[in-house]
Formats: sequence, C-alpha cells, structure tokens
Amino acid sequence: MVAHGKLRKLAEHIAYKLLAALDEPISVGEESALVTASVGITIIADSQRSADDYLQQGDMALSQAKASVRRAVRFFDPSMQAKLLAKVKLESELRQALEHQQWRLHYQPQVDRLGRLIGVEALLRWQHPGRGLVSPGEFIPLLESTGLINDVGEWVLEEACQQLAQWAGSPLLNRLTISVNISPLQFRENNFLQRVEQVFQRTQAPLEQLKLEVTETLFVEARDDARDKMLSLKALGVRFSLDDFGTGYSSLAYLAQLPLDQLKIDQSFVQQVLESKANAAIVESTIALAKSLNLDVIAEGVEVEAQQAWLMAHGCHAFQGYLFGRPVSVNDIEAAVLAQSYA
Ligand code: C2E
Ligand code: MG
Ligand code: MG
Repeated sequence: MVAHGKLRKLAEHIAYKLLAALDEPISVGEESALVTASVGITIIADSQRSADDYLQQGDMALSQAKASVRRAVRFFDPSMQAKLLAKVKLESELRQALEHQQWRLHYQPQVDRLGRLIGVEALLRWQHPGRGLVSPGEFIPLLESTGLINDVGEWVLEEACQQLAQWAGSPLLNRLTISVNISPLQFRENNFLQRVEQVFQRTQAPLEQLKLEVTETLFVEARDDARDKMLSLKALGVRFSLDDFGTGYSSLAYLAQLPLDQLKIDQSFVQQVLESKANAAIVESTIALAKSLNLDVIAEGVEVEAQQAWLMAHGCHAFQGYLFGRPVSVNDIEAAVLAQSYA
C-alpha cells in the first residue's frame, strides 16, 4: 500500500499540473479566453465510506480552495467537516428561533450633552436554550446569507414600533426615538417597502420617533433604488441615520444627495480619538461634514469621559456608548427614565 504522505504528494503534483495546463488561454472562435481553477482533494485512505461521502469531502476542500487565493489547492481535513456541521446546526436553529420566540430586543441609551436620554438603539439578541444570550456578530452574517434576515428584521422593526406606540401615551417616554438597524440585504428586497408599511399599519407607531440605521454598503449597488425607498419612507416621517460612518468607501458627492438625517461616527474612530491623530482628524472632518450637510451627528462607542469631552469640544453633542449604558431590556430603560424624572 502506498504511504499516505506519498499519495498526498502525488495528488498535489497532479493538481498543480492541471492548474498549469488551464493557465494557457483557450480559443473560442476568434476570441481567446482565460480561465482560472481551484482544486479540492480528499485522500481515500480506506474505503469504509460511501462514494458520496468522499465526493462531499472533495467539495468541502474545493470550496475552501475557492475561498482563498486564486489557483489554490486544498486538501480535505476533518475540521472542515466539523465547521460545516456546526454551521448547518446553527442554521437550522436560526430557522426555528422565530417560531420558538427566542429573539429579544435590547436597547442602548443615546444621550445629549447634559446626559439626558434622547433615544435608544434597538439591538438584537438571540436567547438560545443552551448558549444563553447570543450577540448579533455570531448570527447576522448567517441570517443574511440564508435570507432569514428579512423575517427576523421584520420582527425587530415590529417590536420596536410596538414599543414606540406604547410609549406614545406616556409624557415621560413619548419623546424618545428608537433607532433600528436595517441590513442592506433586507433594504434591497423588492417587497421591503410593503412589509415595512404593513408593520406601520399594524402598530400605528409614531413614525417621527423612528430612525432607521443604514450603512454605506447599501449604496454600493442599486443606489437609485435605495435612494427611492428612503424617499418613500421619509415621506411618512421616518428618519435615517448612517451607521458606522467612515468605514465605507461611499462618495461624498453621492452621500450629499441622500435623504439622511444623521451621521453616526463609527466606534473605531471614537475609541482612538485621544490616541491617534489620524482618527481625531477623521472625527473632526466627519463633524464638519455633518454640519455642512445640515445633518445631526452622534458618536457611538464612547467609553470614557475624556472621549466625550473631546467630542464635545469639537462640536458633537449626542453620544452612545458604555459610558452612558450598555444595551439593556426595555424595563431597565423605562426604570432609568423614571429615576431621571424624579432626580
Ligand atoms: P451597530 O449597529 O454599530 O451597533 C453598535 C454595537 O456596538 C452594538 O453591538 C453595541 O452593543 C456595541 N457598543 C455600544 N457601545 C459600545 C461601547 O462603548 N464599546 C464597545 N466596545 N461596544 C459598544 P452589538 O449589539 O453586538 O451589535 C453588533 C452589530 O450587529 C450592530 O452594530 C449591527 O450592525 C448589528 N445588529 C444588531 N442588531 C441588529 C438588527 O436588529 N438588525 C440588523 N440588521 N443588524 C443588527
Ligand atoms: Mg447601529
Ligand atoms: Mg455602528
């Protein structure tokens, strides 16, 4: 029997020979075309598994190869299978989360220069039966790649709108705004406007208190469609905030044409504002840009007083960050407002 190491070397050698052969331009009629390829390999050390299993292993190696550099060769290894299985499990759990009522909304305070609560940002949490409260970093990408983001995003919006409708009756709470994050994928769906309008109908939320947070990636493709949808929603009174501002590559000329109300300075700049001159310059010019476009500006990720003081001295008067409060349940927000009103 040929040793495993030798088989590996042989397979690798053949793979690179194939890739080299494919490097030659191919003639199609009078044109010549270039193709690139990637190779996934699995070594059949024993024949205990079915042919399908080995083909699947080869596929997994191939998709890893495709995800890396061009012309890559990758061997299957068992950790690929473990990762894939974990992803499949997560996906099936996410599919059931809505039905099992495992989604929660937490709210993070946004304050003015005097520390008064002016609004909250709604942040999604997943109450997982085994893992506890899971943060969005772990599931938003999968919600997006599976299209589940449309249903979950609608749940988030409905929950936030219900909250606004409930607060509308209270003189202490009716001035608070709620900011809701909208994924670019959700925004680009054909029926996005219809679904949102149905939520507004069902909840009767005061739409002047609602802010939708979008990111610059929304405007990379189908810009006019995004702009038109924003205009329709603006006509209903909804406001727009541009989240994570400064991390994207959108053209300022284009941004100026969007019906935005607020720029939200990304936390990565805010947190470095005292240490890095470059970051301080970015924050300063963002504040100046907001002023010249007649937009509000809010800084997110403010963790220490010195950051807030710097921001205030440079003309930013709205803040969000651990310094003022972490994302908490609606009960905690309401209790904080009550406490403030008696203070
Ligand atoms: P984001 O919209 O930029 O939200 C701000 C994130 O920064 C939140 O993380 C918040 O907990 C965190 N944060 C706030 N203040 C501070 C601070 O002072 N220091 C530090 N280190 N972090 C702070 P979270 O809740 O984990 O959310 C992460 C991202 O997931 C959000 O970033 C947003 O892009 C996305 N996300 C959350 N909820 C939703 C949702 O309902 N729909 C969609 N599409 N995306 C959501
Ligand atoms: Mg946000
Ligand atoms: Mg952000």
